[in-house]
Amino acid sequence: MPRNYDFVSLPQQKPERVNIQAKDGKDKFGHDKYQLNTQRFSGKLFLDLTVVSPLAVNSGITVMGSDLAQQTLDPTSAKYVATISLIQSSVQQNQRLIIPGSSLKGVVRSIYEAITRSCLCKTNAKVPDGYGECKDISQLCPACVTFGAMSWLGLVHFHDAKYDPDNDKPGFQTGLITPLFSPKPEAVDLETGEKIYYDKNNKIRGRKFYPHSYQEEVKPTIRIQQAETGKKFTTYVNYANLTKSQLGTLLIALGQDPENQLGLKIGSGKAVGMGTMRIDVVKIEQLNINRYLSYNSNSSDLEGNKLQTFILDAIKSAKPQPQTTTAKNQLNKPVVKSANQPLVQLKQLQEIKALLGLTKNS
Ligand SMILES: [Zn+2]
Repeated sequence: MPRNYDFVSLPQQKPERVNIQAKDGKDKFGHDKYQLNTQRFSGKLFLDLTVVSPLAVNSGITVMGSDLAQQTLDPTSAKYVATISLIQSSVQQNQRLIIPGSSLKGVVRSIYEAITRSCLCKTNAKVPDGYGECKDISQLCPACVTFGAMSWLGLVHFHDAKYDPDNDKPGFQTGLITPLFSPKPEAVDLETGEKIYYDKNNKIRGRKFYPHSYQEEVKPTIRIQQAETGKKFTTYVNYANLTKSQLGTLLIALGQDPENQLGLKIGSGKAVGMGTMRIDVVKIEQLNINRYLSYNSNSSDLEGNKLQTFILDAIKSAKPQPQTTTAKNQLNKPVVKSANQPLVQLKQLQEIKALLGLTKNS
């Protein structure tokens, strides 16, 4: 049985953890205070999320079709939906489908983790020495610094994404899904007899991701409420006190690197090709010193070409650049760690691209 997922290997080097606490014990870059200098970036990312393959964020509630019929766009679809006896409903707010901010954050975090030297958290699998979940706020890996850990809120906040915001009545689609199950870490491939999560040396293969394509094996039978292909969700993400490299890594995890365009996998049915989303950053509201010090400063909204330049610049800071001859000659000098050092691991970024890469046509 072919697997509908694959693994992104762990970086050779163990997670790189830093102390985010200042000497007085208070945190240095919390959400509550903005650092008024050019080293740190704070603001809002405005996102459009386009549905590339049907998306359903299961609410866990199964309802009668007749209960959902009133929310459809036209009488024909209402009649049809009313004939469905049971339907798995998706998460909604005021009769509009939403993607909860927490779901979106989790998906972006998992990519951010995979492409940086971050810890392995929320897993039942055996984790290699030194890769365990960050538990101490004085030693946080890149993903935990940005997305949060125990007793640390993180530097980004994802808001709920609303479906089809331009329409008064957005409606929904009904679809079919196969009964799904998640393999356990100790699972064994029935054909090869090999462990699925571990290699021959019993070392974990890496982080699990679902590609966009799949082979249908089981006939889908469960009715679900889903968002329609081609329609969009909109939302925004607040960020506070990110280094340029952290902001660039976040933008790469959101699929914005032109060299590594990624689609995100959100919600139910990831194993059967569902939930592929393309993200476009349509605007950035960048808070800056001028805005704080002067009431009549011009808007710092970035759109169009300015936005693209800003995004590319941040992404460049996140990736290690090829070494120049001068840089190679300086190898023997002591390395000064800068807060803005590139975070991205190029090997893992390539592996993620192989799984989640999106072409312009998809
Ligand atoms: Zn961590």
